[in-house]
Amino acid sequence: MNQFEYTRANTAQAAVNALSKETGAVFLAGGTNLVDLMKRGVSQPTRLVDINGLPMDKIEQTATGLRIGALAKNADVSEHELVKKHFPLLSMAFKAGASPQLRNMATVGGNMMQRTRCPYFYDTAMRCNKRQPGSGCDAIGGYNRMHAIFGASEQCIAVHPSDMCVALTALDATITISGPKGERKMAFGDFHRLPGATPDKDNNLQKAELITGITIPFNKLSANSHYLKVRDRASYAFALVSVAAALDIRNGVIQEARLAMGGVAHKPWRLTEAEKALKGKAADLQNFKEAARIAMLGAKGYGYNDFKLKLAPNAIVEGLKMAGGV
Ligand code: SF4
Repeated sequence: MNQFEYTRANTAQAAVNALSKETGAVFLAGGTNLVDLMKRGVSQPTRLVDINGLPMDKIEQTATGLRIGALAKNADVSEHELVKKHFPLLSMAFKAGASPQLRNMATVGGNMMQRTRCPYFYDTAMRCNKRQPGSGCDAIGGYNRMHAIFGASEQCIAVHPSDMCVALTALDATITISGPKGERKMAFGDFHRLPGATPDKDNNLQKAELITGITIPFNKLSANSHYLKVRDRASYAFALVSVAAALDIRNGVIQEARLAMGGVAHKPWRLTEAEKALKGKAADLQNFKEAARIAMLGAKGYGYNDFKLKLAPNAIVEGLKMAGGV
C-alpha cells in the first residue's frame, strides 16, 4: 500500500474543496472496496478525505418519495420500515449483496462507486485497460465467466458488481451531487457508463463531485416486485445474472413494468424494450417469455460466459413470475 495523507472533512463543501485541490485525493466512506483496492496497489490515492462525519445518513419521506442520504449504511436502508413498505425491491437487492458485516459498513454512495470485480483488474501483473489505459484487456480471450454480454467494447468487457444499483435503476431514482460548481441532479440510469474507449471511467461524476443522496419517487409497483440473484453460492457472491422486476398489475393486466439486470454489463442494464412489450399485456408466462426474448436481442458472449445467454432470459422469466405471482 502506498503512503497517503488522511483528512477528516467537517462539511460537504470542505470535502469537495479538498478533492478540488489535490488530484490524487479520494473520498473515504465505508471503505469496503477502496481499502481492498489500496492493499492490492490497484488504487494509490495521495490523500483520503474521510466524509463519515457528514450529516448524510438520513432516510426520510418527502411529498413525492423517499430520500436516502449517501452515507446511510446498506444494512440500515435494507431494514428501514419506509423502504420495506414502499420499495421492497430495494430492500431485497440490498440483502442479496455482500455479507452482513459488509452491509453494516458499506454506504449507499460507496455502493454506487464500487469498482468491477474483474479478476484481471485486481491483479496488477495482468493487462487491464480500466486499471492502466492502453495496456490491453486480458479478460478478452481469458477466463471471462463473470463478464458482460451487453454493451461491452473492444477495450473492456467488465460488469458493474452492485445489486443495489440494479434496483435503483429500475426504480427511476435520482442522484443529488455536490461539486465545485454547486449542486446538481442526475438520473440514476445516467450515472454509470458503458466502457467504450474509456473503460477507466466508471461513472459520470466530474472532478471533486460528491454524492450526497438519492431520491426514489413513489410508484404503484411495490405489491408486485422481486429481486432475483443467480450466483455461485447462497451468499457473499457477486451476481452471474440478477433481475430487478416490478409490475403494476390491475385486473391481470400489466399497466407498467420495470426491468433491469445486473451482472451483464458495465452498468445496471435497463430492459426498456421489454418493459414496453409488457405494458398492456396479461401477466402470464407467454408474455414474460416474449419480454425475455426481446431483452436478449443484441447479447453477445465472450467464451466462458456464453452460458449467460441462456441463463439471463431464464432469470428474466423467473424474476417476472416471482414479481407477478404467476
Ligand atoms: Fe480490465 Fe475491463 Fe479487461 Fe477486466 S474486462 S481486464 S476490467 S479492461
